[in-house]
Amino acid sequence: MRAAVFPKPEACQTVERDLPAPAEREALIRVEACGVCGTDAHVYPGHFPESYPLVAGHEFAGVVEEIDADVLHLQPGDHVTLDPNIPCGTCRACRRGLTHLCRDLSAIGVTQDGGFATHCLVPARQCYKVSERVPFALAAMTEPVACCVHGIDRADVCPGAVVALIGAGAIGLILLQLAQLQGAAVTIVSEPNPEKRQQAETLGASRTVDPSAEDLRSSVMQATDGWGADVVIECVGSERTAQQALDLVGDGGSVLLFGVAPEAARVAVSPFEIYRKEICVTGSFTNPFTHGRALALISSGRLALGQLISHRLPLDEVAQGIELLESGGATKVIIEPQRAG
Ligand SMILES: [Zn+2]
Ligand SMILES: [Zn+2]
Repeated sequence: MRAAVFPKPEACQTVERDLPAPAEREALIRVEACGVCGTDAHVYPGHFPESYPLVAGHEFAGVVEEIDADVLHLQPGDHVTLDPNIPCGTCRACRRGLTHLCRDLSAIGVTQDGGFATHCLVPARQCYKVSERVPFALAAMTEPVACCVHGIDRADVCPGAVVALIGAGAIGLILLQLAQLQGAAVTIVSEPNPEKRQQAETLGASRTVDPSAEDLRSSVMQATDGWGADVVIECVGSERTAQQALDLVGDGGSVLLFGVAPEAARVAVSPFEIYRKEICVTGSFTNPFTHGRALALISSGRLALGQLISHRLPLDEVAQGIELLESGGATKVIIEPQRAG
């Protein structure tokens, strides 16, 4: 097998390795498609305290090549998508049913070797069987869609709502579609990149705003008769956009901070306004019990995901994929490990 290994932060090399054999309740997956995510862009420079060498990539789909005989829900040849997050099961969060908030969470492609490889050995229970009709590149997007489904659950978008989204990368464009499926009446998308604004419009955004040229707050106020948005979803992860999100929400509304802001980021809030306007500020972390629903949305064709894929790269180009994502030059990058480089 071949794997794109990060031997240390800021380095990536493709290496040959022996093909591992599944141990108890494990499956060997032939990886057909693995998405590059903002998390990989944090892992690559060493922002997360992972141990190196590491094979990153946690958004993947492929085919079961070999499996422990005791696993009953899968067999060789099955197409699968992975839920990469593995909770410990015994900490306080896990035992309250909040497994995604596990203090000892491990994750395929983050704390253990993942999908930027031709093959990946995984606990079989992390695999969800996918119809062979679903292209691997779309099946590989089940994890980010599942994170967005959890975000929409948390944001409480209801029919008729006015939703403002900050950032139209792949995540913003998935959240836009989910907000529409929830029945949002008006969706306003703020995005400086003209191509991404165009994509948001193609996907049905009621209005797009270029925050480098227009005042986002006045655009939202104008669209809502001075009221503010019912739901504001921040999917950039910067101090500035988090502050913007808080300044756009209307009375009785909610703010979802979905983007991964730096730990040291701080924003100003008015406790009086939160009290007087009953504003709810919430976060959303990973994909607790939403992988199956995300897969159902993808399998049924309810989401336009193919058009979000801007690049398909071979295994040797993982580092380039991460750089493309970081530079804003890509919407979604998919690594195809079986492809010759
Ligand atoms: Zn991800
Ligand atoms: Zn736990």
